[in-house]
Amino acid sequence: LPTVAIVGRPNVGKSTLFNRLVGRKLALVDDRPGVTRDRREGDVAFGGLKFRVIDTAGLEDAAADSLTGRMRLQTEAAIVESDVVLFVIDARAGILPADRPFAEMVRRSGCPVILIANKAEGRDGLTGAYDAFSLGLGDPIPFSAEHGEGVGELHSALQEVLPDLDDDDDEDGPGGKALRVAIVGRPNAGKSTLINRMVGEERLLVGPEAGITRDSISLDWEWRGQRIKLHDTAGMRRRARIDDKLEKLAVSDGIRAVRFAEVVVILLDATIPFEKQDLTIVDLVESEGRALVIGLNKWDLVADQPGLLKELRADCTRLLPQVRGVAVVPLSGLAGEGLDKLMQAVTSAAEVWSRRISTSKINDWLSSATGRNPPPAVSGRRIKIRYATQVKARPPHFALFGNQLDALPKSYTRYLVNEIREAFELPGTPIRLSLRTTK
Ligand code: GDP
Repeated sequence: LPTVAIVGRPNVGKSTLFNRLVGRKLALVDDRPGVTRDRREGDVAFGGLKFRVIDTAGLEDAAADSLTGRMRLQTEAAIVESDVVLFVIDARAGILPADRPFAEMVRRSGCPVILIANKAEGRDGLTGAYDAFSLGLGDPIPFSAEHGEGVGELHSALQEVLPDLDDDDDEDGPGGKALRVAIVGRPNAGKSTLINRMVGEERLLVGPEAGITRDSISLDWEWRGQRIKLHDTAGMRRRARIDDKLEKLAVSDGIRAVRFAEVVVILLDATIPFEKQDLTIVDLVESEGRALVIGLNKWDLVADQPGLLKELRADCTRLLPQVRGVAVVPLSGLAGEGLDKLMQAVTSAAEVWSRRISTSKINDWLSSATGRNPPPAVSGRRIKIRYATQVKARPPHFALFGNQLDALPKSYTRYLVNEIREAFELPGTPIRLSLRTTK
């Protein structure tokens, strides 16, 4: 679900807005200590729009001494997690100095903003709304969370900025949305043979023309009720032969295939050892943030199967730390063996890649991981990581908040990524980590 944060200084009416959007029943209060205690989250169905909303209001009753710092931290956390920010001001009070730091945070984030001039009911409600232009956050919507005025306008504004729900298929169960899969690898690894096996000879024999235009590059297929769009690597190769620019096309087609796919299967010829080209494609998969599976093709030609499997799995662990735990599946496209295992690995890689982990679980993990192995001190000051959250899925992307995080050594962020991978069982997917230093 897309996420919407309600942001603003204390007392502008954020909670009332939250309650109006969520309705009483869904307001879910997180009772963890620390920052997460103070936030409320709820799922909203609002005239056909569906989103998750985060309320940053909880701190308003907190002790005044630490209020500003913690509220700021919490607001920053909510903003990075969100696709849209509802920035709330008090239309009666106008713009106060206390509004500015929050407005500044929102502006810096680059996140789409809807400016809401709350408490605008009645005649004197509009005075402050004019002030709001000076924030540089666009036209305010005169609103009354209390009386439900401006709801229609808010709906249209949200409709405009909320990201396409298609981008986030959390809602789709298996068999719902087609999973995009590409099979890539060096020439002669056996890609065409494997694709033929999967979709059936007939399909490819009757279908090549369909794959010839540059844009229709996928074959529809189904495996155990899961719809699959398979990148038509074979069609690419046929064109390449025609064009006789095989080498050049092989590279750009690899890139196209990786961009097309959610899950990339790198097909290796098991009788030929790893080559640099294979590592280059793994780097591409990692930088494009796709899920990965490695297929060991021509397994029928391998004499010592257990020995080679052990060796190749060790190679993967050593050579591919960026996708640690990646599934390595022996198969024979020619004999049609191992295809079920391959597809199981593909769907499970897709699941891992799409996974979302709750903020409270991540923060439990964070305190244990930093407890066991605390971040180092930099020029006498200890680096402190205060808060973590998952910002996005596909691939899993986490943000850490704390002080001096820009000084965190690479080795320590590697430690954290490995720990996240272990703790939440995220093998074989790239993992992104952003560090945000807060004051
Ligand atoms: P592509 O260039 O990756 O599409 O490779 P092809 O599918 O054209 O296969 C290259 C050669 O490897 C062909 O001669 C295939 O018959 C052979 N081949 C493909 N898969 C297998 C396999 O699983 N076992 C064996 N023994 N040969 C295979």
